Amino acid sequence: MMTLIHRIIGTCKDTGPLISAKIDGNLPAGRSVRLKFHLLFCTACDRYYRQLKSLDTVLKKLLIGTTPPVSLPEEKRKELEDLLNREKS
Ligand SMILES: [Zn+2]
Repeated sequence: MMTLIHRIIGTCKDTGPLISAKIDGNLPAGRSVRLKFHLLFCTACDRYYRQLKSLDTVLKKLLIGTTPPVSLPEEKRKELEDLLNREKS
């Protein structure tokens, strides 16, 4: 049986696909409001949404590789090498 609150904010079953669409970035604005309302009232879906979102962020970072390898200019590298060599001797 649908309670009044569910009629307004949608059920968890309705919300699952909305969360996925939101993460994928193709949730229509009208549905987005409904999702926001649901997350406001439903901690389970809110937690699910946060988990998916952070997972998505991590995956994107891994796929895109946002941290480029550190590259030093030639002279700086020489300086460092000299420093290291001096340390050794
Ligand atoms: Zn829910």
